Amino acid sequence: MAEKLSAVKGMNDIAPPVSAHWEWLEDKLRTLMQRYGYRNLRTPIVEPTALFIRGLGEVTDIVEKEMYSFEDRLNGEQLTLRPENTAGVVRAAVEHSLIYDGGKRLYYMGPMFRHERPQRGRYRQFHQFGAEALGFAGPDVDAELIVLACDLWAELGLEGIELEINSLGQPVERLAHRAALITYLESHADLLDEDAKRRLHSNPLRILDTKNPAMQAMVNGAPHLMDFLGAESLEHFNRLRALLDAQGVAYRINPRLVRGMDYYNLSVFEFVTTQLGSQGTVCAGGRYDGLFEQIGGKAAPAVGWALGMERILELLKEQGKLPAQPVPDAYAVVPDAAALPQVMKLLRELRRRGVNVQMHAGGAEGMGSMKSQFKKADGSGARFALIFGEQELAQGMVAVKPLRAPAEGQAPAAQTLQPLTDPAAWAAGLRSA
Ligand code: ATP
Ligand code: MG
Repeated sequence: MAEKLSAVKGMNDIAPPVSAHWEWLEDKLRTLMQRYGYRNLRTPIVEPTALFIRGLGEVTDIVEKEMYSFEDRLNGEQLTLRPENTAGVVRAAVEHSLIYDGGKRLYYMGPMFRHERPQRGRYRQFHQFGAEALGFAGPDVDAELIVLACDLWAELGLEGIELEINSLGQPVERLAHRAALITYLESHADLLDEDAKRRLHSNPLRILDTKNPAMQAMVNGAPHLMDFLGAESLEHFNRLRALLDAQGVAYRINPRLVRGMDYYNLSVFEFVTTQLGSQGTVCAGGRYDGLFEQIGGKAAPAVGWALGMERILELLKEQGKLPAQPVPDAYAVVPDAAALPQVMKLLRELRRRGVNVQMHAGGAEGMGSMKSQFKKADGSGARFALIFGEQELAQGMVAVKPLRAPAEGQAPAAQTLQPLTDPAAWAAGLRSA
């Protein structure tokens, strides 16, 4: 036998029955986005590397060490598997003038790639679902996006997801804070770990985000960005808070909440849970009014969030909220292969009428015994068996046998005979509600 090949480390196959959970989640997400008037945008998985260097900033974790970048062998172009999709969305919006006639509400979903150490809730190919509102400056859209996420948790039946918010102000305000922060951190140089020392002058704000327990007390005492915000930034933040309060959305102001990407300003937020170990952030976002210009477009305000699909599914599992597996409405039992031409025709007719039917597939030797076919029918979870026996077919009929009891302790209903020529009369009765 040839040597076995396996998937790339940190990249997962998603097979049944788990793929059904994904489809269920994707449907829930799409439905909710429609309710809020968001439309789907699909961008390529590969983008020019420059998009992320310019969009995310050279001193972010992603650009420094997590990107899958390569050179196109044919033309030497520098390309990267997208590590996130906000930069791609903005690139597309600029390239196609998507907001020439006003703001646009968009969503996307799909795989992202980051070269990280794989662990629970952290993979090298993972999936994000994101919502982006482009061209809107007011805190009302920030509030809408946050409320939307809260509605999503409720729709999924998830509990215990907490909201943290902060404001990063504007770049000039961050600059003043940065100077104060560096001075403070330098005065505690003995407490800084290697990572912090490296970031001290490149991206000191990220030091506040440290997970190193030895540095917690020290960063807790660091100057708060909030104290450096001007009146306008504070006003934006306070209006967001008022809107959240009015919707009864609970939140915690976390002055140490910063984002990994450089492009954020004003509102930033995260939804976190304590039930997923150290990978507890399930959804994160904020405002990025500077990004359009940064990647060569006309300035435009924007705000958005992205959630990690794997983490949401893990949390659903943790809380016992995953949906039941889909089952066919009916399973076709076909005693004799000679009946297949007629049977397949009828099954297609039933499917056109919205019935989910699984056909028994025989082997090289024929269809198999009735006993083994009924075993398969039962194992499929179908609510009905359709029996295409010789006798039934001779009468122009199919036997419809209920396989499940209407309630516990009761027997399944009796078998009926239905006319092959008139599926309209009985097909609807097979469909689940
Ligand atoms: P973290 O601090 O966990 O590394 P991040 O700040 O890098 O997160 P974002 O870039 O804001 O994450 O991505 C948004 C969401 O995507 C995260 O909140 C998380 O749910 C999910 N996510 C990010 N990286 C991964 C990954 N490697 N594997 C699985 N999910 C991820
Ligand atoms: Mg990360």
